[in-house]
Amino acid sequence: MTDLPTFIAGLPKVELHVHHVGSASPRIVAELAARHEGRSPVPADPEALADYFAFRDFAHFVEVYLSVVDLIRDADDVWLLTHEVARELARQQVRYAELTVTPYSHVSRGIPAPAFGEAIEDARKRAEADFGIALRWCFDIPGEAGLPAAEQTLRIALDERPDGLISFGLGGPEIGVPRPQFKPYFDQARAAGLRSVPHAGETTGPETIWDALRELGAERIGHGISAAQDPALLAYLAERRIPLEIAPTSNVRTRAVPSLDAHPLPRLVEAGVPVSINSDDPPMFGTTLNDEYAVAARLLRLGPDGVAALARAAVAAAFLAPAEQARITAEIDAYLASAAR
Ligand SMILES: [Zn+2]
Repeated sequence: MTDLPTFIAGLPKVELHVHHVGSASPRIVAELAARHEGRSPVPADPEALADYFAFRDFAHFVEVYLSVVDLIRDADDVWLLTHEVARELARQQVRYAELTVTPYSHVSRGIPAPAFGEAIEDARKRAEADFGIALRWCFDIPGEAGLPAAEQTLRIALDERPDGLISFGLGGPEIGVPRPQFKPYFDQARAAGLRSVPHAGETTGPETIWDALRELGAERIGHGISAAQDPALLAYLAERRIPLEIAPTSNVRTRAVPSLDAHPLPRLVEAGVPVSINSDDPPMFGTTLNDEYAVAARLLRLGPDGVAALARAAVAAAFLAPAEQARITAEIDAYLASAAR
């Protein structure tokens, strides 16, 4: 039997809550910075970049995130970022990922929406051929940019409608950004067949999660950790089988929870709420999906069987056809059986 980190590294997985720009590793950012040398505050030297990336506080994270957004200036940058993010996910044995993309950030900086859509689609198909990973898109509203951003995100989603687009989200800060105001946009996205996956209950209380469920028709919740404070909400999520996308290290980095040991994951699982384990903005939070599985294993006191069950639960929470879910689940089962020998 191999040790748990090795077991996790080889385990076939799906990733349901990870951001496109937020997945840009120092290696990827160095490539982007080299393309725009002298026109960006971001160092192109990988060693200087590692320092630049080291998480200091949330304000610094926002600074790093925005400086990476500013490095994405044309469709080739979008293609490069997408293809490289897929490479790094595939290295962790991720077979399928729902990548949260914020087209508003790029289109408002001058990349035409059709060119943006073509770049992610072309990179998606190439990544599938090159790395054997399937990517799907969640287009999310950057909540801090308000209703104009919601309107534009919806327009891009419906007008471009890339083949890989499956869901509609809402990210950015929660405090001061009430969820119900976005209802008309979610209504239209859902009417067009997109699934609803807003962030809620990360830095705000359970009421935000109720809003996401009742007003935005949420089918999964990004974070949703404050559900642990509301027994009625826990029961509702458990009964309706509405999964929470859990990213423990992210929650500590953003100070949504004071420490990993204080993370409510065990309480959520105990209440029977479906959860998936995710990495959110991994390089910027100094983590990986594999690390998050290791954290979850420690918090839930799991061995290989339990970790494989977490991987299966994420597959069950994915917006995948049943045949595809069965295929990845069978791969997880075969891996577990071979690791036990
Ligand atoms: Zn997120």
